[in-house]
Amino acid sequence: MSRVAVVGGGITGLAAAQRLAKGGVDVVVLESSKRLGGKVLTERDEDLTVEVGPDSFLDREPAAASLCRELRLGSDLVSPARFGALVWTGAKLARLPAGFPHGIPSSPYRAWRSGLLSGRGALRACTDLFNPRPVSGPDLSLGTFVAHRFGSEVLENLVDPLLAGTRAGEAESLSLAAATPVIDSLARHHRSLIAGLRAQDAAGPPPFVGVRGGMDRLVERLAATLLERAEVRTGTVVARIQSSTNGFELRLESGATLEAQGVILAVPAFTAAAILRELSPGAAAQLRTIQYASVASVTLVYPQGSWTPPEGTSGLLVSRAAQATLAACSWTSYKWPETAPADGSLVMRCFAGRSGCDPVSTITDLELARRLVADLGAAIGLDASPLRSKVTRWERGLPQYAVGHLERVAAAERALEATPGVRLAGAGYRGSGLPDCIRQGQEAAARVVELL
Ligand SMILES: Cc1cc2nc3c(=O)[nH]c(=O)nc-3n(C[C@H](O)[C@H](O)[C@H](O)COP(=O)(O)OP(=O)(O)OC[C@H]3O[C@@H](n4cnc5c(N)ncnc54)[C@H](O)[C@@H]3O)c2cc1C
Repeated sequence: MSRVAVVGGGITGLAAAQRLAKGGVDVVVLESSKRLGGKVLTERDEDLTVEVGPDSFLDREPAAASLCRELRLGSDLVSPARFGALVWTGAKLARLPAGFPHGIPSSPYRAWRSGLLSGRGALRACTDLFNPRPVSGPDLSLGTFVAHRFGSEVLENLVDPLLAGTRAGEAESLSLAAATPVIDSLARHHRSLIAGLRAQDAAGPPPFVGVRGGMDRLVERLAATLLERAEVRTGTVVARIQSSTNGFELRLESGATLEAQGVILAVPAFTAAAILRELSPGAAAQLRTIQYASVASVTLVYPQGSWTPPEGTSGLLVSRAAQATLAACSWTSYKWPETAPADGSLVMRCFAGRSGCDPVSTITDLELARRLVADLGAAIGLDASPLRSKVTRWERGLPQYAVGHLERVAAAERALEATPGVRLAGAGYRGSGLPDCIRQGQEAAARVVELL
């Protein structure tokens, strides 16, 4: 029987392995660290439960929600108790109006009312309504597109803070098509993006859901299904792949080797490049160019009553103009009240690290926490001292889809056609949200089975 090796036991690799095992394929998962889940990591400390990776996913993209239902977690999908963001520009703190996907103002009037755009900035944003024709031609940067269509205030006060908070991204270099496919599609089908958004009825909060008890329950359920039907090896680093008479030989860092007829590489693109350097130098060259930003998730626990967030908000987004270390923050004890400590402490989960101006890797945990505490004081007036803090770093943790990203991924995939049976999947390629990763893992599994 053919054997498929899945390299990487993050959510992508686990979703791929689950599909393969379910289809009766002989599958082995090779994961370098001691635990499964990759970026999906829930930490529990005394009576505190915090996500230090993803805390939720988009429900309207089906792959993650349907996998949860398949794993009998459907009734444990919970919506945040609050949803809504404040934006801090350094000069002001204002509420981001609902229904602004990626910060694109479906209503310049509401953006002006919120205080995030000046009268001049709102009028400039309205020029989108008179745009003569939809976008055509090659990929362009999100920053170039937004600045041209809506002006610099929309870019700095609306789009940039959302990108910093969700992707550690920099609008000037991110690909419109790869980083914001919904906006790209609207821009290519509608003369005016505002009109396109209104036609889509984009109002209302996006339907995010989390998993009651922790996101790692999804990993646990996947791992449990694999225990019955697949081999899972943690603490196993794959160094490279070569062709062999039987298919492929995977060389492990330990010096051992393993034969497989199909391989799914569900690791970051830079790792896939290193693993493929001999088997497919062409694919490796493309993958090496995909950049990642280092980010940190810092949980700060404050005494009860230290600060009360405005009604209907769950977090803060910080514009680059504020020149802060803080990129975003969610007040998790309000957003996910069931995870809050019983003593009523306020739990703030901060994000630091931005592509292009990245101090996260070079400063100590203590200094990082100190800066974030100071930024929270300046942004929202939270002046208390935290009782405890916990820093989790994700070195090269978030892929940055630069202009032309999808062409680069397609070129890597074309290069791999010379060695049928090897597939790429995961956050580095066609979407980094959990539903995108799960979908890519499942598609890679289906494709490998077809090829075998
Ligand atoms: C702080 C943070 C917050 C996020 N928040 C959200 C959110 O709220 N919602 C959302 O949808 N998404 C969110 N994301 C994105 C999402 O979590 C990730 O894109 C997704 O989990 C990546 O899954 P993956 O399996 O592709 O990669 P990874 O999780 O990186 O898994 C790759 C695995 O490969 C292993 N590996 C690496 N090298 C080797 C090797 N040589 N041999 C064997 N194994 C190897 C790694 O140890 C790892 O386990 C967040 C990401 C971060 C960092």
